[in-house]
Amino acid sequence: MRVLLVEDHLRLGQSLHDAMSREAYSPDWVVSLADARAALACADYSLVLLDLGLPDGSGLELLKSLRASGNHMPVLVMTARGGLNDRIDGLDRGADDYLVKPFAIAELLSRCRALLRRPASLDAAEEAFGNIELFMAKGEVRIQGHPIMIARRELQLLHSLLKRRQRLCSRAFLENELYNFNTAAGPNALEASVSRLRAILKSGGATATVRTVRGVGYILELGDVS
Ligand code: CA
Repeated sequence: MRVLLVEDHLRLGQSLHDAMSREAYSPDWVVSLADARAALACADYSLVLLDLGLPDGSGLELLKSLRASGNHMPVLVMTARGGLNDRIDGLDRGADDYLVKPFAIAELLSRCRALLRRPASLDAAEEAFGNIELFMAKGEVRIQGHPIMIARRELQLLHSLLKRRQRLCSRAFLENELYNFNTAAGPNALEASVSRLRAILKSGGATATVRTVRGVGYILELGDVS
């Protein structure tokens, strides 16, 4: 799940980036409004973590323009300005949640999970298909009710395929979901992840598998088509 982290405080940004990377997220970290706008223009995000005091303006400007353009992706505002008026202002402008610095990273992660569980954001809904169940918040996959071992990348891949089950997922869609700007995704990285996921599903006895649509992408569908 791809997350945009907008934070100009380098130490905080780095620790948030690292913490999110350890969870099942692909964070892109930017340090200015301009970079945030550029990132939003060329990638799809499931969540934005937004600092307000940025070197080239206020995060509230970005929030306002996102909402004005009809973009309803969840936005969690992080700011040192704990004043009641600022908080109300942020929420009025369309923030979904608000965290006052300093905060514990564990708390931030739990707020992120809560935001992504909201029905409005389909990204983090628990998904089930055939005998596969995915619990994104816990990073857990079960086949026939049994938890299976799965690496973070393949968990993300399965999640993306499950969201669009029985529909074609283009390579570009999956690459956007799986890799952030800093992840060097070689030309065969996606194929390698798909192969690993197929092996995991097969050995777990899943009733769904990943079919290749040559030259286009992949479909998660019921039945053993390996
Ligand atoms: Ca700041």
